[in-house]
Amino acid sequence: MTTATDAIPAAPGLKWVNSLAGLGPDFYTELQPAPLPSPYWVGRSRAAARELGLEEHWLDSSEALAVLSGNRLPPGARPLASVYSGHQFGMWAGQLGDGRAILLGEIETARGPQEIQLKGSGRTPYSRMGDGRAVLRSSIREFLASEALHGLGIPTTRALCVIGSDAPVRREEIETAAIVTRSAPSFIRFGHFEHFSYQNQHIQLKKLADYVIDRFYPACREARQPYAALLEAVSERTAHLMATWQAVGFCHGVMNTDNMSILGLTIDYGPFQFLDAFDPGHVCNHSDDQGRYAYNKQPNIAYWNLFCLGQALLPLMDDQAQALAALEPYKTLFPQALEARMCAKLGLSEARPGDQLLIESTFSLLAANRVDYTIFWRRLCNFTPQTGHEPVRDLFPDRESFDIWALQYSERISNVDQGLRADLMLENNPKFVLRNHLGEEAIRAAKLKDFSVINTMLTLLQAPFDEHPGHAGYADFPPDWAASIEISCSS
Ligand code: AMP
Ligand code: MG
Repeated sequence: MTTATDAIPAAPGLKWVNSLAGLGPDFYTELQPAPLPSPYWVGRSRAAARELGLEEHWLDSSEALAVLSGNRLPPGARPLASVYSGHQFGMWAGQLGDGRAILLGEIETARGPQEIQLKGSGRTPYSRMGDGRAVLRSSIREFLASEALHGLGIPTTRALCVIGSDAPVRREEIETAAIVTRSAPSFIRFGHFEHFSYQNQHIQLKKLADYVIDRFYPACREARQPYAALLEAVSERTAHLMATWQAVGFCHGVMNTDNMSILGLTIDYGPFQFLDAFDPGHVCNHSDDQGRYAYNKQPNIAYWNLFCLGQALLPLMDDQAQALAALEPYKTLFPQALEARMCAKLGLSEARPGDQLLIESTFSLLAANRVDYTIFWRRLCNFTPQTGHEPVRDLFPDRESFDIWALQYSERISNVDQGLRADLMLENNPKFVLRNHLGEEAIRAAKLKDFSVINTMLTLLQAPFDEHPGHAGYADFPPDWAASIEISCSS
């Protein structure tokens, strides 16, 4: 086996650097990924590879398999695990850190520098009791979900590939190891700021904030108070992120502050779920006894997390009022962004007074009837005021309640160009989302070394608004057994 120290060209022309390493050793530990025994491809996202500027053929090479599993180091890479802390389930958890993720380095792309990170690549000084590994099932879920959210136009870290191994990993039972190779402009979390703030390391805190401002929020540098401006800018991105999650029916499941990206990206896919039947209080994480991260609580939890970020940044601000003022816009930005998203789903190209009421009554109707969220919206694309639409109506156990709503909706769209409305709706109401049972099907097949299901799903999820004739089964209602799927934090 090749060792991690063999330097080889990782895709011709790629230059690996690591700007995070420039912050200094208080921020990370340099280390080598643990070799992954006899790695094999489980899934590859060629779209993600293209966006990283990787050559098409490279992803088929044994060299790529070695580099992306952490078994060989590309030249220039300075692998490291970063330290962060965080609030987990509302409680201060102290030091956490990249317990099983290793940053290989970053590469220059047409979209700016992108970090490449291996998740599941062995123990680090931040592993605590963990083994540093990730299992196949959770790696497949993260891989497909990352690419699915990107396909939906939702800000997210990307996933380049999943690499499997038959090496055993102990969870509730013995499973096998895998690595998800992820990319993002940065994997910095709210928890990174909390870490240095709680340690009273204010020089490091400022260094981190300056790094983030200079690289990702340069406009904040011009503000009278750059750190308050940073907090406000992160709040804006987070408000946008929450609107996209709520509109598509995505539940993250573990919105701890260490799982909140400073860039407003969806990050750390664990027990996430796309809603099947619409249930506002749905809790997707089997370990979340209190329902802290229920679907309808996500926007407020995001605000709570932003508040923690503000608290962490306080040493860099003039006073508390400044932090509170920076957080204030979230309260209007989130509802505005959600309204814009929901109007698009309803096929309304511009919001009018009264649309908010229509949106609220839509949510109430769906909740009262426990209607399948994705199927409702996709079917609604073919609704017309003249003929209504039986396939939508049939989704409602209480047909009368639908008829009353349909009157209200028909009136709103009566003067709208119906062709344009349908087009707008088809672009905003996906046909395909990664429901839990689809993830399960992909995992079951992969455990039998059949990776074709992953490939098929990847194709559908990367273009979820397209019809994809012949694949209607992937857009269907969940089977009865889906209700018994329990996804916990175990990964
Ligand atoms: P998560 O709930 O996946 O966001 O992880 C919370 C913390 O636990 C992070 O610091 C992770 O790096 C760490 N962690 C989770 N699973 C493992 C594992 N198998 N080995 C080491 N650290 C882990
Ligand atoms: Mg995490």
